[in-house]
Amino acid sequence: MIQAPVSNELFERAQHTIPGGVNSPVRAFRAVGGNPRFMVSAKGPYMFDEDGNQYVEFINSWGPMILGHAPAVVQEAVMAAVPNSLSFGAPTRKEVEMAELIVSMVPGIEKVRMVNSGTEATMSAVRVARGYTGRSKFIKFEGCYHGHGDSFLISAGSGAITLGVPDSPGVTTGVAADTLTAPYNDLNAVQTLVDANKGEIAAIILEPVAGNMGLVVPEQGFLQGLRDICDKEGIVLIFDEVMTGFRLASGGAQQLYGVTPDMTTLGKIIGGGMPVGAYGGKAEIMNYVAPAGPVYQAGTLSGNPIAMSAGMAMLSHLKNNPEVYAQLEQTAARMVAGMEANMQKLGVKFTINRVGSMFSIFFTDKPVTDFESAKTSDTALFGKYFNAMLKRGIYLAPSQYEALFISTAITDELADQYIQANFEALQEALEI
Ligand code: PMP
Repeated sequence: MIQAPVSNELFERAQHTIPGGVNSPVRAFRAVGGNPRFMVSAKGPYMFDEDGNQYVEFINSWGPMILGHAPAVVQEAVMAAVPNSLSFGAPTRKEVEMAELIVSMVPGIEKVRMVNSGTEATMSAVRVARGYTGRSKFIKFEGCYHGHGDSFLISAGSGAITLGVPDSPGVTTGVAADTLTAPYNDLNAVQTLVDANKGEIAAIILEPVAGNMGLVVPEQGFLQGLRDICDKEGIVLIFDEVMTGFRLASGGAQQLYGVTPDMTTLGKIIGGGMPVGAYGGKAEIMNYVAPAGPVYQAGTLSGNPIAMSAGMAMLSHLKNNPEVYAQLEQTAARMVAGMEANMQKLGVKFTINRVGSMFSIFFTDKPVTDFESAKTSDTALFGKYFNAMLKRGIYLAPSQYEALFISTAITDELADQYIQANFEALQEALEI
């Protein structure tokens, strides 16, 4: 049994000065019960909390730590950059190299603009799509999360679902009216929206593999069907690859599924853990961005030299070592096979969705293909399971509506440790 008195005390203190005690809602353990752990350090597959507890890591900073924590290649690049100052507010060679690297890796990106978070990337991309098309509305999918920009907090996933506020107060009805929503994987619903709003839709934005309602896989033909609708109607197709970019393949989900969007948003991974995002796409569209064009978007710290150094090191490593993806695939497949065997043995109703190194367990016997079916999962059971895993030193995202992210630091031995913990935690959660 892991005790965490120091974390508990810090969490109590934090409530006085930080809303809810955390700087991002997904970090709280609201949906699963208990208090969050306050971390001190992490290395490879392990994270260490204030009480000296060690956890095997399956969140990996919500995705970016593909190589595990503090990999030498990224750390050394950061250390080398630090003495040259932390920010210039003027252009640097690294930004040019970073843009060239991203363009060389992501099929749908001809030009790219760096920002500081995924939220900024998606907000900016939709603004540019609106400026480019001269239209106001856009379509998003129920249960997809695109950061906390006002217009995205409509049927939003991730922490917004976890806390039961998919439509956030504070978003005006005027803004909300321009966000149209459809169920994920439902091309007919998209076509109906497009027909009912002829010539008014600027963009369709989606996670090409959804990770923010738990992991939901695009059905055969879904992404291509959206591509076809967008081509026919002059709509900008935006893939939000903040989680999937460089994780599912070096060119992201768009490379994996062979469907090229007009614009792509990127985040966290391209900073190797530093606060970075980016949006890019066809040159014709990106030339609308200031100062090349009229759509304004700016950032004092955008293209920050330390963040660029970390990101360049991470992306170059992924580009030059394609075997990383085979390893991630093998580890994740091993974990899922082990869990399937466990759950069959224990008679648990489950669905596991997986693409490469991202997967989710849903405690339901229904296929999970959209937000409605994701909600059939037994979230109370998930809460018990989460805590039983934590007790065994396995750190998962504290919500049903998130995915696990596997890093290359997870050896076969650690995967087997996870599978064993999964068996015991299920027994404990189900009281069998
Ligand atoms: N888009 C997607 C698909 C995301 O998963 C997230 C965050 N997890 C965001 C956008 C927002 O990114 P950030 O938290 O860096 O603002």
